[in-house]
Order: sequence, then structure tokens, then C-alpha cells
Amino acid sequence: MKRLASILLSALLAFSMTGCWGNRNEKPQSSARPSQNPAYSTPAPGSEAPAPSYTPAPSCTPDPSCTPVPEEGITNGTSQNAQAAAAAAAPEPWALRLVNSSHPLPEDFEPATRSIAGYDQRLFDVRAADQLEAMLTAAQKDGSPLYLVSGYRSIRRQTNLFERKVQHYLKKGLDRKDAETAAEQVVARPGCSEHNLGLAADIVSANWYEGHTDLSEDFENTDAFVWLQNHAAEYGFVLRYPKGKDSVTGVSYEPWHYRYVGQTAAAEINQAGLALEEYCLKKGICG
Ligand SMILES: [Zn+2]
Repeated sequence: MKRLASILLSALLAFSMTGCWGNRNEKPQSSARPSQNPAYSTPAPGSEAPAPSYTPAPSCTPDPSCTPVPEEGITNGTSQNAQAAAAAAAPEPWALRLVNSSHPLPEDFEPATRSIAGYDQRLFDVRAADQLEAMLTAAQKDGSPLYLVSGYRSIRRQTNLFERKVQHYLKKGLDRKDAETAAEQVVARPGCSEHNLGLAADIVSANWYEGHTDLSEDFENTDAFVWLQNHAAEYGFVLRYPKGKDSVTGVSYEPWHYRYVGQTAAAEINQAGLALEEYCLKKGICG
């Protein structure tokens, strides 16, 4: 069985590197800085330039070997508490949906979201928003105030960000293909970012963010990171792109990027030291 599992994992990893590009550091949704009370600040959303027309590359096509996970119970927040409680209690297919370079979301994907308390422009999937807020509140009470840099990002916005980066490289003289390749190193293609799913959050500490112009690995040297390492799973979140898992996730280490998977899955993932790709393979799910 071990040998079979090893072969299956190798096959998955080989495939995962053939789709949309990985190894890019996602940049924050907004360049707005925290205010004097960052935990309750409401940064203005970044202005969006009109996006030139963009057609997703052929490489960003759904993996036909994967069975799509049906979207269940999406409503607009009338029973958020009940949904959050149910999500926290047991693994839910929607919470384990895999999104990466080889598992893009459909172009019209649009989850039901709501604003996170204390932020006007930070949206999150309504089914997990309570858990995110509970985690932020707990960290504040423990003396490790966190700052939510980025939550849900629409595929339309992702398209804008990607195209803007492509235009940057076109102006430097690259042709379209090379410009897209260069852009993919820093901005995920539309539908290939976990932020498009609504279950990913870029989280740092308020103090750290005030002293940085961009998200960077040295966030790991903060008390806030230690707090997240110790407590995120209690709220159903895992560090999505762990150190040393680049070859599995296709994304470099990101100590700020947390993904909601539900409490049970988070505990199992942490205990086994797995990336979400490995966990999904182990569980026989691939949504
Ligand atoms: Zn992120």
C-alpha cells in the first residue's frame, strides 16, 4: 500500500506542476496601510483600472480526473451561525475544495460572502466568516492582535491584477506569452488563486504590517505567527503553503496565508504534517 500511495502521490505532483504556474508570492489585496487601530481599521479598497480583455490560458483548465465538489447550502447569511457551527464540527466537502494551478475555479465562480467585522472591504465565505472573526477576536484577547490583509478576491479582480502585471511586462518589451509567464510568478491566474474561493485569508500582525511594504517571510519571526501556529487549527484554519512543501503546493512558503478547512481537517493536517494537496489525496477527495 505504501508503494501504491507513493506512486499516486508522484503522479499527482507531476500533474500539479503542469497546469497554471506556481511558485508565485501572492501580493496583498490592497496596499492600504493599517490605521492607528489596525484591528478595527477599514482600509479603502484599491482602485481598479479597467481590465483589458483577457482569456484564461489553455493551461488553466479543470483537471478532468477530479470530481467536482458540489456547492452545498450557499445562502446569503440568514443562518450563518448554524452554517459555521456545522462546518466546524465535521469536514465538509466545500471546505476542502482544492484550488491551485491545476485545479482552477470555473470562470463564473462566486461564493456567498460577507464582510468581516471591523473591515469594510474584507469579505469571506459566509460559511466560515464566523470562524475567522472568532480567531481574530481570540488573538486580540491573547495580546497578539492580527491584521487581515486580504480575504475573498473575485475572479474579476484577479483578472485585473493579473492583466495589470502582464501589461507591466509588455511595456518592458516582452511578448504576450513571456509577459504572462513573468506575471504568473507574482500573481496567480484568474481562478487559480485560493482567494477566489473565499476561504483564504492573508493574516499578519498589525505592528508588523505597518513596518512592511509587502508580505514577506520574516513575518514568521513574530509573536503573532507563533499564536497562529498554536491556535489557527482550533478555528479550522491551516497554514496553506508550509515551509518545505513548495514541490507539493507549487507555491513558495507563505507564513501569512491561512486556509479554512474546518476544525477536524485542520487538526488532521497539522498532526500529519501534510499540505492540503497531500491530505486530499490521502482522503480520496479532489474537489
Ligand atoms: Zn494569500
